[in-house]
Amino acid sequence: MKTFILTLFRWLGLFSLAKIITARQPRILCYHGIAVDDEYQFSPGLFMRSDTFARRMALLAKWRYKPVSLDELYRQHQAGQYCKDTLVITIDDGWAGIEQGMLPSLKKYQFVATLYLCTYFVKNQRPVFNLAASYLFWKHKGLFLPAETSCLSPYTTLQQLDLNDVLSLAAELDSAYEQPILEELASYFGEDLSSWQHNGKLMFLSPEKVTALAEQGLAIELHTHRHKFFKLTSSEMCAELNDNQQLITQLTGKKAQHFCYPSGNHRPEQLNVLREMKIKTATTTEIGLINYRTPLLTLPRLVDSDIISDLEFEAEVTGVMTLLRSVASLFKRGS
Ligand SMILES: [Zn+2]
Repeated sequence: MKTFILTLFRWLGLFSLAKIITARQPRILCYHGIAVDDEYQFSPGLFMRSDTFARRMALLAKWRYKPVSLDELYRQHQAGQYCKDTLVITIDDGWAGIEQGMLPSLKKYQFVATLYLCTYFVKNQRPVFNLAASYLFWKHKGLFLPAETSCLSPYTTLQQLDLNDVLSLAAELDSAYEQPILEELASYFGEDLSSWQHNGKLMFLSPEKVTALAEQGLAIELHTHRHKFFKLTSSEMCAELNDNQQLITQLTGKKAQHFCYPSGNHRPEQLNVLREMKIKTATTTEIGLINYRTPLLTLPRLVDSDIISDLEFEAEVTGVMTLLRSVASLFKRGS
């Protein structure tokens, strides 16, 4: 039904009209990782196929968008007017697959992009534990029977563990247990973790790769050190941002001043911490376009993923969906 309506809207010229109406409302696109294997089936919201990303970039080029940096978006805001068709490409987290899966397309169209980098898994080069454990249980669809010598044996009497058992046990233990647990799981399910190290599956970029990508023009900005923010105290928030900022400066030689809330979550009082740290912009995962009244520390984005069709993507980027949501909220308020 949605496809039919959107196709009809496009045929009626409403996509082109919406693009003109919203021309001075910048859009910030949000991407995450690129699958190096079958991760797009495991978590299509997080891992896109490189073909899908290439198609999206081709569409942006066809529609004549010229992506700009967050510094440029900030400059336009300070100047008092956003330029026509301003668009920003942001990539969250720092998954290893983006180097092979995104950079060639970005270079092909000479698009600038911003990587919001979490630095913990850049520094600690191992698969992201919770996600890697979830992936193994998803792929092999069975319970885990730990060996007598398992590092988990002293902490559980269970003979068979499901994903939740493993995750809650790991949460109670020190993070030093994560890699040994993962190695046991991989060995039990017959997966080769060394190949993950090689192809970057569920891994973050290495420090050297971050430096190389920054040299190629990718702007590296803040996403906290450990992907934590929402529930933290003020001093913990500052520590997360400082650790993140210091490591990014070490890797790129530049001071990161733009921020993305991990998982998009934030509390109103947290904005004061960002103001104190002189953060210029911060993005959420709330959906929508930007206008001059949108606060710079709670900028909405358009989150793209592998389960979104090219037609739905076009409806978001041209502004059709934002206009439809505005009309729907007017009706809601009126009723
Ligand atoms: Zn994130």
